[in-house]
Amino acid sequence: MNITIDGPGGSGKSTVAKLIAKKLSFSYLDTGAMYRAIAYYALKKGVSVEDEAKVIALLENLDMKLWEENGIQQVSVNGENVTPYIREHNISMAASTISKIPAVRIKLVELQRKIASITDCIMDGRDCGSFVLPDADYKFYMTASSDVRAERRRKELALKGEEIPFDEIKKDIEARDKQDMTRKFAPLVIPEKAVVIDTSDMTIEQVVDLICQYVCR
Ligand code: C5P
Repeated sequence: MNITIDGPGGSGKSTVAKLIAKKLSFSYLDTGAMYRAIAYYALKKGVSVEDEAKVIALLENLDMKLWEENGIQQVSVNGENVTPYIREHNISMAASTISKIPAVRIKLVELQRKIASITDCIMDGRDCGSFVLPDADYKFYMTASSDVRAERRRKELALKGEEIPFDEIKKDIEARDKQDMTRKFAPLVIPEKAVVIDTSDMTIEQVVDLICQYVCR
């Protein structure tokens, strides 16, 4: 069985997906982490995330591995565990920019489909229900106002010691939404037949309960 949750950054997808995965004993796949890992790796190698030709060359010898450690998804690129670095604020926009390159998406979608084919899985991202797994058993689309999403992200980063002003985060979130929604290949859309949940005024528990009404039997 496969469940997809799509939506813009800060809508609460990953928090909710992890809790549902635990309840159902499913594996959880954070597809955003995969785009973040490629962006981080490119920047580390001195490759601009805008430079399609160089990014494609980088993909040729790129080996990504995903596994779980103490309930936390880990991701490595060519043997280096990049998990500790991919959540930094500057990686968010870099991931969005590199994810516009079709070759990047094709490589990652192949891996995502493979994982979904061998395990009961809940996957979150931007195109999981529309492109990666259009025939998923259950599809959800979570959203929230950009003010609410920016404040959630600000708190999350502050907890990790990254103090970034609310206005800057809101501006970046809106720019990222626009870039993700308007790219040509597999943009962020509400997937066909997805249940749409606006989490602006909901607690995490309320969202989990709502999703459970569909998927927990
Ligand atoms: O969800 P997260 O904020 O970690 O995603 C980082 C970026 O990766 C997104 O802004 C988006 O551009 C890209 N992404 C994507 N498709 C996915 C997941 C993430 O394009 N399935």
